[in-house]
Amino acid sequence: MEIKFTKSENLKKKPEPGQKLGFGNIFTDYMLVMPYDEGKGWHDPEIKPYAPIELSPASMCLHYGQTVFEGMKAYRTADNKIQLFRPEENFKRLNQSNERLVIPQLPEELAMECLMELLKVEKDWVPSNDGESLYIRPFIFAVDPFLGVRPGNSYLFIIILSPSGAYYESGLNPVNIYVENKYVRAVRGGMGYAKTGGNYAASLIGQDEAHKQNFSQVLWLDGVEQKYIEEVGAMNIFFVIDGEVVTPMLQGSILPGITRKSAIEVCKSWGLKVSERRISIQEISDAYDAGKLQEVFGTGTAAVISPVGILKWGDKLMEINGNKIGDISQKLYDTMTGIQWGKVEDTFNWTVEVK
Ligand SMILES: *Cc1c(COP(=O)(O)O)cnc(C)c1O
Repeated sequence: MEIKFTKSENLKKKPEPGQKLGFGNIFTDYMLVMPYDEGKGWHDPEIKPYAPIELSPASMCLHYGQTVFEGMKAYRTADNKIQLFRPEENFKRLNQSNERLVIPQLPEELAMECLMELLKVEKDWVPSNDGESLYIRPFIFAVDPFLGVRPGNSYLFIIILSPSGAYYESGLNPVNIYVENKYVRAVRGGMGYAKTGGNYAASLIGQDEAHKQNFSQVLWLDGVEQKYIEEVGAMNIFFVIDGEVVTPMLQGSILPGITRKSAIEVCKSWGLKVSERRISIQEISDAYDAGKLQEVFGTGTAAVISPVGILKWGDKLMEINGNKIGDISQKLYDTMTGIQWGKVEDTFNWTVEVK
């Protein structure tokens, strides 16, 4: 499909090397916008200056939350190439989310073509300092001006780009989290596996209370019995118990992370035993008491690997590996970030160059 290009009249000043980028504050010069209309399908993709969009106040997405999104990064390698990490997995997952939210499928090759064109235009925005990257946010939402409840007939697919700073400034600092006993984020049959705003809306209250108590996140339990471990904020969760790597199995209420999937593949390639299964919080507590809980870490695009140093369950405070990052967590971090930034050979064939 031909992608229209509308030139910006005043390009922004790019961040200075060394300037703190943070996350999600700075946006590049251009965005990609492609409408969908019933009868026409996805049509007229356009790369145009990043700017506010005009929406009817009756737009369905604003009232009933019919939205989906993705998150990935573009990395600049030492030899000045720009590459993506398993982007086809993101667009595949976008369509799984679309299906759950009754949003029309977006052909994955078309989504990829849109992204590649936008990245070619915005190449110079991919930062070059250690650990920095260009965060990519594709999203879709229903725009019909209608207050009745039904799936939309009109949508917008937009990609915006945001240069973002290194997640860790000095080494991988373990985080403290607690087990959420009151609220749940998703239930069996719900939309926990979809990357949609509603799941985040459901989780904000837990995160807010955690912050008030000086914890960085909550560990969610299943929404039915509140016994089995699900995930953490925007990360999947892993445990190393007596040498075995264990993570909750995907059964509809957990987001199928691409970092999760990749970490499993890397661990298996090292000959480690990896299990995807149900894990009760009681099992974790028992493993801790038996001295067998060796490591706990989260996985997600933002941090890649985030070691958990303190895990609190009710009144019980578990200090994992002396509140220091464990060997498997560190090795996974080094390997995966190494592949992403082109410092470690990509034997899995996961990276895709933006040419
Ligand atoms: C995006 C996300 C993750 C992590 O997925 P990655 O593909 O690894 O970035 C985990 N949990 C939730 C709720 C998410 O939205």
